[in-house]
Amino acid sequence: MHPQTCGLVPTMGALHEGHIALIRKARKCCERVVVSIFVNPTQFGPGEDLERYPRTLETDLEICAREGVDFVFAPSAAEMYRSRQFLSIQIEALADHLCGATRAGHFNGVLQIVNKLFQIVHPAHAFFGQKDIQQFRLIETMVDEFNIPVVLHRVPTIREHDGLALSSRNRYLSPAERESAPALYRALQELSEGVLIREEGDRGDKIPKQIASARKKLEKAGFRIDYVSVVDYETLQPVGKMPENRQHIVAGAAWLGSTRLIDNILVTARPAGQQP
Ligand code: AMP
Repeated sequence: MHPQTCGLVPTMGALHEGHIALIRKARKCCERVVVSIFVNPTQFGPGEDLERYPRTLETDLEICAREGVDFVFAPSAAEMYRSRQFLSIQIEALADHLCGATRAGHFNGVLQIVNKLFQIVHPAHAFFGQKDIQQFRLIETMVDEFNIPVVLHRVPTIREHDGLALSSRNRYLSPAERESAPALYRALQELSEGVLIREEGDRGDKIPKQIASARKKLEKAGFRIDYVSVVDYETLQPVGKMPENRQHIVAGAAWLGSTRLIDNILVTARPAGQQP
């Protein structure tokens, strides 16, 4: 540990145990921890939940104090976007699928704000959750291609006891929807087990069928599906079969009422006889 290392945990507030896991990871490897709290308007599309997004700054500040955070950066939108923004980061291919396919401009807004935060805070390390895996992959690409001197950390998804990934948006769920919600993770678990099983004569090209069956289960549980997909980790392009020794993402996004939930699992197929 370098005495001056600064770790940044970017958030939109309404902090929960998922954010706290990021903060604790940052505390372990950095001398100073900065948490940013900013509901970034440029990553919300028209008709999305920008206005109703939970804002709980007082409680967030208490959590940060309790967790030993050194600085909280909670700017206003007017401070972050002082004038019309003439530049934006263009994304090739990596936002064509998963959340990027239906949330036009979302990841451009994410990269815009994360880039600003990196320039303002100058962290040596930055911490993001696996829950937003496409976001992580895009930030990883931005850091690589723009040579930004920051080490990225991907923190595993923190879940409720029944498997539901923690999210600030879970508070929108009605009691009945909350009961159905863990079905998303269960469907992705079954799908990730399914895509890894190889039987005699299996050419490993059953993924579309397995996705169709996962979609059926989700629809039965009351979800309106945005996507269920298996994509290559590097390219974020959907695959029909899974080449061995390459990391893939089994991901899903689906609506319960007016709440959109996302989740994912990382999988790598290994040649028969090789340990997972
Ligand atoms: P948000 O406030 O939703 O923008 O999230 C801020 C950061 O926390 C992002 O890097 C998210 O991926 C991460 N995060 C959100 N939920 C979880 C979770 N359940 N487990 C781990 N990280 C999470």
